[in-house]
Amino acid sequence: MNPFRYQRAVDPASAVQATGTDSKFLAGGTNLIDLMKNGVEKPSALIDISRLALAQIEELPDGSLRIGATARNSDTANHPLVRQRYPLLSRAILSGASPQLRNLATNGGNLLQRTRCPYFMDTGFPQCNKRKPGSGCAAREGFNRMHAILGASEQCIAVHPSDMCVALSALDATIRVRGRQGERTIPIGDFHRLPGDRPEVDTNLQPGELILSIDLPPSRYGARYEYLKIRDRASYEFALVSVAAALEMDGNVIRNARIALGGVAHKPWRALEAEQMLTGKTMSVDVFRAAGERAIEGARPYRENAFKVEMAKRAVTRALSNAGGIA
Ligand code: SF4
Repeated sequence: MNPFRYQRAVDPASAVQATGTDSKFLAGGTNLIDLMKNGVEKPSALIDISRLALAQIEELPDGSLRIGATARNSDTANHPLVRQRYPLLSRAILSGASPQLRNLATNGGNLLQRTRCPYFMDTGFPQCNKRKPGSGCAAREGFNRMHAILGASEQCIAVHPSDMCVALSALDATIRVRGRQGERTIPIGDFHRLPGDRPEVDTNLQPGELILSIDLPPSRYGARYEYLKIRDRASYEFALVSVAAALEMDGNVIRNARIALGGVAHKPWRALEAEQMLTGKTMSVDVFRAAGERAIEGARPYRENAFKVEMAKRAVTRALSNAGGIA
């Protein structure tokens, strides 16, 4: 591990002021410290934000919910307001990692966790544009069973590993951040980036910006929802494909649908066109199957992950059917 400066921040303003070139914020550290030990991340400074007052989970006057950036994943998933109003989020969080990791990992860290592409995680591999820009992408012709089928680029075909973020995408979360210029909010759909020609940049955060909270609009999807995660083993495993699905119904007619996929792209993949085609339809398995087809239109698999195309279609169909209670 490289030498680094350590500083404990006393409030968000001082945390932001303490940032500099190649500094990182440290909260749970469940991903960052691993990457530092592996030599993938080499920050010049760690700004410890773990004791800032950013762990509250509270209802706002307009009925939305503010979830602090340093609230632990476990505390978030088990909070009564999250369980009652946003059970989709609770279920997604509890499907990720292990209890020990969820007890330590924070929501801000979950948003910022990095891909588990093996060529990124292991510095023994010389080619990885995300870790070493311009070096190439070993996964394109190598081991790519876990990789993207949507939104990839010539430079990178990695996927975002989070379950929580897939649910946040479906629930239209907003990320509140603070930088040297003050506060701003970023819709979850604009928070993470597709790889394009700069795969080393995962998010649209500006240098030194600190995540303060995740804000969720008033809940409309507390009754009909599903988080379906398909993986190689039953626990402590990343998704091959996951689907966050939620329905707002008027009898058997779909008033609103939400569909987001994980394990298929460099960011949570919101299937907006599939959602729109469901609006006003009477729910049925056939209708949900058509949404599954639409959700993965334009998919481009690689040598080892063609199975994900059919898997994603079926997962969307199943998740919507489960949400609608017609499985
Ligand atoms: Fe690196 Fe992305 Fe290619 Fe993986 S897919 S080797 S992270 S550039």
